[in-house]
Amino acid sequence: MAVAAGCIFCAIAEGTGPAEIVDSDEHTVSFMDINPATPGHALVIPRRHSVDLVEVSDEDAARTMVAARRLALTMEETLGADGYNILNACRPAAWQTVFHYHLHVIPRYEGDPLELPWIPRGAPADEIAATAARIRG
Ligand code: AMP
Ligand code: ZN
Repeated sequence: MAVAAGCIFCAIAEGTGPAEIVDSDEHTVSFMDINPATPGHALVIPRRHSVDLVEVSDEDAARTMVAARRLALTMEETLGADGYNILNACRPAAWQTVFHYHLHVIPRYEGDPLELPWIPRGAPADEIAATAARIRG
């Protein structure tokens, strides 16, 4: 399995770095985040090192999402979670701080103190359409 020297998440996947592992399979490992946003906040990683969402293979992107959903459903049973946020930060501009691709699984509880990280402001329909046209190219 591809391992990057000095990568803390590769060490966790290999079993040489400390972690509270809560789920694993042939291609993924899930473990508790050391700075939980809510009780149960976990990270899902592919065992194979890739830096971010842009670099990760389609297969590992799919496998990590399947594992994230499995873990979320487990948290419904075991923690009584009422909902989940599945989050990826891709590149520093989007808050990424650990450069081994991962999904955050953040269980949510009715009335918990988390807030939306953006303010929905609306935009004129023509501005949205113009941006869509740029994306379509
Ligand atoms: P991000 O900022 O999206 O790249 O997320 C990185 C996450 O990894 C943060 O929420 C950190 O709290 C978490 N983290 C960093 N080091 C460790 C570690 N050794 N074990 C578990 N979680 C970690
Ligand atoms: Zn790694």
